[in-house]
Amino acid sequence: MNPDLAALLKLQERDQAIMAIEAERKALEPELEALDAELARAEAELEAARQAAKEADQRRAELEGKIESYRIMQERRRQRLEWVRGAKEASTLMAELDLARSVLAKEEAEWIRSADRVQEAERRVQELEQVLEQVRQAQAPLRETLAAKQDELAERLAAARKEREQAARNVPKDLLAQYERIRRGRAPMALYPLHEGACGNCFTAVPIHRRHAIQDGQSITHCEACGVMLYHVAA
Ligand SMILES: [Zn+2]
Repeated sequence: MNPDLAALLKLQERDQAIMAIEAERKALEPELEALDAELARAEAELEAARQAAKEADQRRAELEGKIESYRIMQERRRQRLEWVRGAKEASTLMAELDLARSVLAKEEAEWIRSADRVQEAERRVQELEQVLEQVRQAQAPLRETLAAKQDELAERLAAARKEREQAARNVPKDLLAQYERIRRGRAPMALYPLHEGACGNCFTAVPIHRRHAIQDGQSITHCEACGVMLYHVAA
């Protein structure tokens, strides 16, 4: 075999090894993304519950303020009632006091409900805090395993890249440039074997005279259709 071709095939083998490790790495992504999504969901639910608790607390505080001002107004009416002399004015004031009393009672009932809602919302926050903690704990061993796999793959990738560099050094510069150019193109690889008289990548038939040149193993030819390098494997 042409030694340049042998060097090119060795290089391609190293590139395929790198691609295989990269594919393994990519295969880990969906699992990691699923873990991240699960965690994000639990965090978002907790955040929404915290927001709801804050709003419930604000609502309760608003009602407290309102009730306090009603009480002050009511107290003033009572004081006025003590000084009022006219019967008509007194009865008007009495009616106002009655009305205000029922309004106040309604607001107080609403305040009790709002206080219940605050408690409920705070319970929900605590529940979701626990859920988030459980998700974190459940994920921890999976994340550790994934991280270990990623570290291992990163190490293997670094080693494979070093081997690739060494293999590239054995390929003449012009051929290496051609090889790199083809790899940047659409074909998944740069070298393909001749397959029943056709290009092993795009299956375009190779003219007979060029086929002979490939088959004697002495020259490296490009496919006229897709541009990959063609070689022949002796049976
Ligand atoms: Zn082709």
